[in-house]
Amino acid sequence: MIRVTVWNENKHEKEIPELLEIYPQGLHGVLQEILSVDDDLEIRIATQDMPECGLPDEVLDSTDVMIWWGHCNHHNVPDELARKVADRVLLGMGIIFLHSAHHSKPFRLLMGTTCSLRWRDNDYERLWCLDPSHPIAAGVPATVELGTEEMYGEFFDIPQPDELVFAGWFRGGELFRSGCCWKRGTGKVFYFQPGHETNPIYHNPHVRRIIRNAVHWAAPACRRSTLWCLPMGQTTEELAANGMSIDQY
Ligand code: ZN
Repeated sequence: MIRVTVWNENKHEKEIPELLEIYPQGLHGVLQEILSVDDDLEIRIATQDMPECGLPDEVLDSTDVMIWWGHCNHHNVPDELARKVADRVLLGMGIIFLHSAHHSKPFRLLMGTTCSLRWRDNDYERLWCLDPSHPIAAGVPATVELGTEEMYGEFFDIPQPDELVFAGWFRGGELFRSGCCWKRGTGKVFYFQPGHETNPIYHNPHVRRIIRNAVHWAAPACRRSTLWCLPMGQTTEELAANGMSIDQY
């Protein structure tokens, strides 16, 4: 089983009635629905309005892949929590950042750049698959007509992706690197652009497939238990016995 934590800031849900018309259970609800058809996934919901932003250590420690949706409340994620999330990725946890999560604190920490981009209101978007043999593109056609979607355009201030799986084209002429993969430490990171809160993007069957594929791709292949440089011959357990933990690195 892959233990997935779907994290949502859950703020627009309380402010934008149009969102609830499209996603009555909220963005976290539709993401849970997308994943729930996959018997290999154990799904947990965490939202920013929960204690500790829904991400106490026991949740972080028992998450194989995290999905992150945030937009206008990034600044209220404590720096310490963002660092912990990023550190878990370095130790092997997979993470998928959706849409406006490009400006979330954990994504910016993992990228080391501003992650800023060009944007404007809705246009027509066509998603192009650039890497049909990539596991995240399995079963996805050469192009996906997304219809109305918020325009995100280049320049997108990210490090060059290790693998670029999708690109977005907008009728206004803009291009965007819409599906990007990186490895950070032993963890995998996927950024996926579609998913503006007032467009029914997460009802698109191809988008749903991409998100499920991405969870499987991001599942940990190698999990470490410390960010420390281990002395030869000493195990993580021996370090822990001396009171050393990853929070001290
Ligand atoms: Zn948006």
